[in-house]
Amino acid sequence: MSDAWLRALVAFPFGLVVGSFMTVVVARVPAGESLVRPRSRCPSCGTPIRNRDNVPLFGWVLLRGRCRACSAPISPVYPIVELTTAAVFAAAFAVADDPWVAVMLAAFLSLMPAITVIDVRHRIVPNRLMYPALVAFPAFVLVAAAAGADVDVVRAAIGFAAFGGGLLLVALVSGGMGMGDVKLAAVEGVVLGALGLRYVAVAAGAADVAVAALAKRAPPTRTPARTGPSRARTIRSSRASSSCWPTAPASSASRRPSRPTTTSTSRPPRSSAASWSRSTGSAVPSAPPAAPSAFRR
Ligand SMILES: [Zn+2]
Repeated sequence: MSDAWLRALVAFPFGLVVGSFMTVVVARVPAGESLVRPRSRCPSCGTPIRNRDNVPLFGWVLLRGRCRACSAPISPVYPIVELTTAAVFAAAFAVADDPWVAVMLAAFLSLMPAITVIDVRHRIVPNRLMYPALVAFPAFVLVAAAAGADVDVVRAAIGFAAFGGGLLLVALVSGGMGMGDVKLAAVEGVVLGALGLRYVAVAAGAADVAVAALAKRAPPTRTPARTGPSRARTIRSSRASSSCWPTAPASSASRRPSRPTTTSTSRPPRSSAASWSRSTGSAVPSAPPAAPSAFRR
């Protein structure tokens, strides 16, 4: 067995543990709840989840996706987050033989499944994750560089400015992107820049394609006023339950009505995308204005 596979094999169970923590992040961060206590409970019946049922991935499988006490369904999103987190975590250790780089990559990639689920559900990239990341990753790069790791501080700084600054421009110009995305991009710039600017270029290119695709598919439904901290506060103040394990779909659905502008009845977006979809019959295949895109509902 090659070294890379061996490292991945050893890293995988740790990735599952990190993934399990990330399911708590997914359930509690948007609600503004503590990540440490209370311990996980079934949101339907309130029964604390036993340790043996709380084992990442296997707990859900053994329970066949239902609460042991009340049989309420447990969202499959949670084992999926655990599995994908473990997979990217293991992949980070497989591709990087420098342990500093592997740890940085694993930490960075482990954030992504959780951020994706939170963004899809609540349409925020929470500051509670982004501010610590904006401090932790640059600090880690500095320490790693001082320790002689294969990271590049100057390029990390360039990546931060180029990618974060680039998306800041996009956010300011389009109005279709939240400041959470900008912070996330800045973190990506740091991590990828530390490994070499070509990675930043690849990620920036991918982001450009994604932004262009989103702009074509649907007019921006985010407005600056509802993103970032202000939205986080909205969600926090309207939080209803203290439950933390599963069924966030139900709880987030109940929160949805309080959300101001996701439908076509709300104020018209100011991008040109809206105008062409209204002046139908053009060559552009038009989606309804509020058509959900894959990434931003
Ligand atoms: Zn239950």
